[in-house]
Amino acid sequence: MSENKDPQVAESGSSVEGVKFVYDFTEGNKDLKDLLGGKGANLAEMTNLGLPVPPGFTITTEACKVYLDSGEEPVALRDEVSAHLDALEQKMGKKLGQADDPLLVSVRSGAKFSMPGMMDTVLNIGLSDKSVQGLAKQAGDERFAWDSYRRLIQMFGKTVLGVDGDLFEEALEKAKEAKKAAVDTELEAADLKKLVTAFKKIVKKEAGRDFPQDPREQMDLAIKAVFDSWNGDRAKLYRRQERIPHDLGTAVNVCSMVFGNLGPDSGTGVAFTRDPASGHQGVYGDYLQNAQGEDVVAGIRNTVPLAELERIDKKSYDQLMQIMETLENHYKDLCDIEFTIERGQLWMLQTRVGKRTAGAAFRIATQLVDQGLIDEAEALQRVTGAQLAQLMFPRFDESAKVAQVGRGIAASPGAAVGKAVFDSYTAVKWSRSGEKVILIRRETNPDDLDGMIAAEGILTSRGGKTSHAAVVARGMGKTCVCGAEELEVDTKRRRMTVPGGQVVEEGDVISIDGSSGKVYLGEVPVVPSPVVEYFEGRMHAGADDADELVEAVHRIMAFADRKRRLRVRANADNAEDALRARRFGAQGIGLCRTEHMFLGDRRELVERLILADTEAEREESLKELLPLQKRDFVELFEAMDGLPVTIRLLDPPLHEFLPDITELSVRVALAESRQEPHENELRLLQAVHRLHEQNPMLGLRGVRLGLVIPGLFTMQVRAIAEAAAERKAAKGDPRAEIMIPLVGTVQELEIVREEADTVVAEVEAATGTSLKLAIGTMIELPRAALTAGQIAEAAEFFSFGTNDLTQTVWGFSRDDVEASFFTAYLERGIFGVSPFETIDKDGVGSLVAAAAKAGRATRPDLKLGVCGEHGGDPESVHFFHEVGLDYVSCSPFRIPVARLEAGRAASQSAGSDHR
Ligand code: PEP
Ligand code: MG
Repeated sequence: MSENKDPQVAESGSSVEGVKFVYDFTEGNKDLKDLLGGKGANLAEMTNLGLPVPPGFTITTEACKVYLDSGEEPVALRDEVSAHLDALEQKMGKKLGQADDPLLVSVRSGAKFSMPGMMDTVLNIGLSDKSVQGLAKQAGDERFAWDSYRRLIQMFGKTVLGVDGDLFEEALEKAKEAKKAAVDTELEAADLKKLVTAFKKIVKKEAGRDFPQDPREQMDLAIKAVFDSWNGDRAKLYRRQERIPHDLGTAVNVCSMVFGNLGPDSGTGVAFTRDPASGHQGVYGDYLQNAQGEDVVAGIRNTVPLAELERIDKKSYDQLMQIMETLENHYKDLCDIEFTIERGQLWMLQTRVGKRTAGAAFRIATQLVDQGLIDEAEALQRVTGAQLAQLMFPRFDESAKVAQVGRGIAASPGAAVGKAVFDSYTAVKWSRSGEKVILIRRETNPDDLDGMIAAEGILTSRGGKTSHAAVVARGMGKTCVCGAEELEVDTKRRRMTVPGGQVVEEGDVISIDGSSGKVYLGEVPVVPSPVVEYFEGRMHAGADDADELVEAVHRIMAFADRKRRLRVRANADNAEDALRARRFGAQGIGLCRTEHMFLGDRRELVERLILADTEAEREESLKELLPLQKRDFVELFEAMDGLPVTIRLLDPPLHEFLPDITELSVRVALAESRQEPHENELRLLQAVHRLHEQNPMLGLRGVRLGLVIPGLFTMQVRAIAEAAAERKAAKGDPRAEIMIPLVGTVQELEIVREEADTVVAEVEAATGTSLKLAIGTMIELPRAALTAGQIAEAAEFFSFGTNDLTQTVWGFSRDDVEASFFTAYLERGIFGVSPFETIDKDGVGSLVAAAAKAGRATRPDLKLGVCGEHGGDPESVHFFHEVGLDYVSCSPFRIPVARLEAGRAASQSAGSDHR
């Protein structure tokens, strides 16, 4: 998180000279988001475009920062606000709260990034017991004036004085009931007057003070409340999760009021320049007649579709359409808009580049290219790898009839269907008998791990994006919806009650959507993602019936491939994965983990090799392993013909290849007690004891294993060389690269290298082929990174193993920490994301950068790649681009994301900050 503060502001506390804290809307522009917040910058931009924006001014984020640092507003702020208020009063021809004709203003928060939990708007500031009369006279509408006043007390009471908002709502309901009014517009002036008295009483009782009658005091208190809301719990949590720095501060917008509640020729609405769900151009939005802004959001009365406005007020409608076109052409993007019509006069209250679904992001980016509004490089900045990943998950069939019963936080994407279970034990038991289950908990903890692994998806009623359930599920790539608070989970009685009272018992089928957070009763049909069908080659862009989304993805991928410098390879251990990776666009294999080739039936062969007592026993096992290995490699080279294939020699944590020590001990003990022969097992047990390690990940693995078990690595090298020779003989184009894991010092590499060179030369001589096998190493230990200059003398390439490097740099056990304490770390903001997910640039990343530099200093043509999980993580891909690696390697499914992000990194234009 950025620690940078403007020294001018930070050091001089609340008395800062020469800093301008207030900007008139005519003074700013859209690029001043840091200073004026998103809302303020866009209001200024619209003002300068000549659009009808009610006059006003913005208090800068700098003023907020001073307040946050010192606990006091900057001394100069009061005078500056007074000067801007004077100017505003002159422009409007009336004074704030003036008794006979009051100027009224709204006060709204507006940070650089929009954020839940910040202070809501306070409208109608300037109204008091006196000025409400003046407003009534001026508007010729007593009802309107008292309605505006009761709204002010309600909003001010709730957001500035911290009174429970429900108390006002209850009083309003009572007033409606007394009047038998269905909607609030049926309340008359006299009713509203009474309501004002009731509201004032609530304020006095709950806040311990009278509602302020001085208009300037109202305004100042509201401004301060906006500053304070920056540090509200929800806002803080959101910032931590979204990795928004805590020291940005918020701006405050003070805007002269226009009224949508002046009768049927007034109203308020929201509009989008395109459909945020599909990207299609058209008329999208909602309108509410005779209402103020917050009514639309609150859903107090039913809105009408924006298209209806054409019938209600054609002049304003036409003007709005015109403005929307102006805004889209100006911002060159989808904009969303808030507007108000006051007695037939249209006013723009807000605009911003609008949020959109992942699918719409791709469509809109290509549509804007076609319209000539943006170029390919900019189109790449309008989409993200995370959005592409979202589009690649299977999804629920939208045409299916479904019963949505709740919604939580979309914590880990995917569509999961299964029987409801309420504890881990049942999840494991049922899934073992072939049932698909959804694990439902209030919240999960490390004891739930087995159940989470067994389940199709996880649903919790508590916790946010960094809760245990969310973090672990994302790590496993498992669908998760968390924090669905409206669901009452009763784990003791193994049931969950949904809003409306329906009960979901253990065994009932439910469906959860980890991309939207929606929870459904029953089985919702799942359809494969059309985007995956496209990457698999089963759906074609350009075909007559091609999906619009697929078409857009196809074009964006082509843009990315044209721009990117990084190549993208796959982590794949078999021909099937290699072929998929190729279809997805892989340009080779960056990591073939050969230990995966020895699990299953072959595990015993490796076990025999490791435990062999004699040379002959060892030779025997190696002889059996060789042809099997060779076959694996022939298949891999064939699948990746013409492209590089990096094969890593065996790197198991040893225990994965040995029998389980407890199980074996029990077998031996049983045999002993039954006095049965058990010599072999006893011998095995002794050997397992001898090799048992407390920390297998730091033990006999990687190059260390190759050095202490004679013949193991050379057998693998021989298999690679013979397989390559066989493919050459079959007119193939094998491009093998041999990679040595877990090297800590160049000496280890030199020894293995010499042995490998000898074997390769033997195979070349025997087959009469020249193989040109490159030999390189992984850089996955701090010592290797620190001595990269020396290691490069014996390596033709480096591949950064950022999984182990993260483990060893942080001293984190990669298998344990995410489930055990990362939730606490994330919640306390120690990091915003797991360093196993996104590269820790400052620590692990700086070692990568330094090692890359040192390696290239020794060997300028040293090939550099990364094959840890970070190779497919969007943010990390940008980092690897910046430090000059040649390629990233990731699992086949993440290849499109890596291609896209590599293209985005290469074409990133300064100043583009689409979030
Ligand atoms: C790594 O450590 O980053 C790596 C790719 O190797 P593995 O995950 O197999 O240890
Ligand atoms: Mg490793």
